[in-house]
Amino acid sequence: MAKVKQKLLFRTENVSGGRTEGESGSFEQGGSAKRPGKVNRVTERLQARRKSLNDSLEGDVRAFLVNEAELHTYDDLTKVNPVTPTTVLKCLQARYSARVFYTHAGCTLVAMNPFQPIPHLYSLDVMREYHTASQPQDFKPHIFIVAEEAYRNVQGQVEPVNQSLVVSGESGAGKTWTSRCLMKYYATVAASSQKCQHTVERIERRVLDSNPIMEAFGNACTLRNNNSSRFGKYIQLQLNSSQLLVGASVQTYLLEKTRVAFQAPNERNFHIFYQMMKGATEEQRQEWEMPCDQKFTWLPNAEKSLEEDCFQETVEAMVNLGIDAHKRAQIFRILAGLLQLGNVNFSPAPESEPCGLDQQSKGFLGKTAALLRVPADELRECVSIRTLRAGKQSALLKPCSQSECVVRRDCLAKVIYARLFDWLVGFINSSMCADDSKWCNFIGLLDVYGFECFLLNNLEQLCINYANEKLQQHFVAHYLKAQQEEYVSEGLQWSFVRYQDNQRCLDLIEGNPTSIFSLLNEECRLNRASDAKQFRERLQKELSDNGSMSWDKFSKQPHFIVAHYAGKVSYQIEGMMEKNKDPVPPELLSLLQKSEDPLLQSLFADTETEGKPHGHSKVVTVVSKFKNSLENLMKILHSTTPHYTRCIKPNPDCKPLTFQKEEVITQLEACGIVETIHISAAGFPIRVPYDNFIQRYRLISNTRLLAQGAENEAQIALGPAVQDILNAVLRTKSSAPNNNNNVMVHCGKTKVFLTHAMLELLEEQRYRV
Ligand code: ATP
Ligand code: MG
Repeated sequence: MAKVKQKLLFRTENVSGGRTEGESGSFEQGGSAKRPGKVNRVTERLQARRKSLNDSLEGDVRAFLVNEAELHTYDDLTKVNPVTPTTVLKCLQARYSARVFYTHAGCTLVAMNPFQPIPHLYSLDVMREYHTASQPQDFKPHIFIVAEEAYRNVQGQVEPVNQSLVVSGESGAGKTWTSRCLMKYYATVAASSQKCQHTVERIERRVLDSNPIMEAFGNACTLRNNNSSRFGKYIQLQLNSSQLLVGASVQTYLLEKTRVAFQAPNERNFHIFYQMMKGATEEQRQEWEMPCDQKFTWLPNAEKSLEEDCFQETVEAMVNLGIDAHKRAQIFRILAGLLQLGNVNFSPAPESEPCGLDQQSKGFLGKTAALLRVPADELRECVSIRTLRAGKQSALLKPCSQSECVVRRDCLAKVIYARLFDWLVGFINSSMCADDSKWCNFIGLLDVYGFECFLLNNLEQLCINYANEKLQQHFVAHYLKAQQEEYVSEGLQWSFVRYQDNQRCLDLIEGNPTSIFSLLNEECRLNRASDAKQFRERLQKELSDNGSMSWDKFSKQPHFIVAHYAGKVSYQIEGMMEKNKDPVPPELLSLLQKSEDPLLQSLFADTETEGKPHGHSKVVTVVSKFKNSLENLMKILHSTTPHYTRCIKPNPDCKPLTFQKEEVITQLEACGIVETIHISAAGFPIRVPYDNFIQRYRLISNTRLLAQGAENEAQIALGPAVQDILNAVLRTKSSAPNNNNNVMVHCGKTKVFLTHAMLELLEEQRYRV
């Protein structure tokens, strides 16, 4: 062989002073490039080889690296070797078939939804087992390991560290179920009331009871989940210096208030309305104008019977949290008023006249007014006549068109519901929150909506996906740190891993000075007539440089496409401005301020109604509010130690124990597991213990198989043999297709770390000899 000048730089034991990427692994050009014919044949064979490597688990390479029959025993996806989407999927599938629902993925826990109760998996005994174990991480993967780890971490070795448990996944994947499970765990293992049994209003009870209330008011049956949360939630469990649960506080995000007045086909309104309809006493029915046979437009699919329709449970939880009978009556009366409002229909009228109401609608409007404790004639006027202010004194009355009346009616319902929800969250907080002096640390649980991509996507999806981008960025930074620690423990240096971060996409959405959000806000503030057109033109002109944005050429309506880390999403521009402004006609606000219902009145007490003339008022837009609350959340997350749980929905129909590969792989991509795999592939995804390595590749260099050393001595005992093999392989390196100058191998303390390219080289060589 022509003189091969090569330099294989791999370290054997240099935690400090190891190589950095720049100097790493420079293989210099070998001589075999002079034999093109051979290269082609080799390349063909290698390509075929690579195909079999990537496409299936068959073949001796996989047999060596992954034993398919034992796949279900892999407790950690990063140990599946090599880590590829295919192997990860196979492993999860094997485990699911074996009824194993939790699997670690490095610093993440993957939770597969069984869609049926699993007896004893979450019992008190199991909680106790994990809680009292000296090394819970040695137990089978479980959400309780995450819970316990966070609980122990709070104490910290040097000082206490707050913890965050981030639960993500698509609708129906099991986020809320998991969050509830975590709350039960802490309410059990950190119960303060064990020490003061006389405490009647146990704080743990209150914390747990916040769930049925929030779910009754914030969850609904959708096509994808019978109990779908229509808001994001971050709950902080407050612990005192003895690690006991002494209180909690909750923050909510972006309630889908449009659902009050609009339910997609086969979906339902928020559970609470059905609970009232099904669970009311005769007396309540009369008071709420809710006879059994009454049909409500805003109460579709009421015949569907769900376990979530349990009014009694919600009422009991409200009682436990201290919402007294009087307040409860006010709340339910307001909700009953909204249902009546939904039955009010407007008939068209000439331009100069207000829309008409038929007899039935008049009746419903009257009942609405009575339940909301506002004058009926004023209610009618507010929804059907607009007041145009020309100056401080003069006002012009303009009848609304039929469709405008509908918008105002729906707006009234939405604003009341949203404020009532916020009020409830505030009440729950005041009831659960401990005095600052009583707690010192917290464990935060984040249950947020996962990445969304529908046929039509608008501002809601943009906000939700933006939140997911933020969390993904946080996760990647955290994951890299964890990987770094693993590499360092094997004596490798970290800096050789390159990865793609999603900063460019975040800059596109929220960056300064120009981004989708900034342009959207500016256009909303300017309040121009043709605002959607202006907005589109500005997006096209001012953001065309950002590679994360493109335009949907096939849709009739203008759509822009954002390349998110989880995939591309096409967003409809139509309606985005209006949704961002989210205007509430001042007449409606004034009316509600005059309500004789003290609760309803208080919900609007501090709202400015006589603002500056329409169009110049300071608009606090939906995206600026959302961005602010998310920034606050990120600040909190950054100040804590995070633990990620990725919930996976194994089939779209919520069928028990049914695993659909396509469904799962899409979610692994969307929740970042595949991204994590890519990051790990950017480093050295194949990790082979020294003795296995020598066993398989010794033929390449005719090396003698040395006696096995103890694990920590493996490197010393076997290192030279490994080096022999690697040198032999690298002499042929120029014939390999991946002939770049990146380092392809590192030797750790107990394992050889390989890139895919190096594995191919090794396999190719083994194949030849
Ligand atoms: P959304 O985003 O729509 O709120 P989600 O991720 O919060 O969805 P969940 O409501 O938690 O989904 O779960 C959907 C359903 O799946 C639950 O109502 C429950 O029936 C079932 N489920 C979830 N996790 C488990 C589990 N670990 N064991 C048994 N059933 C489960
Ligand atoms: Mg949920």
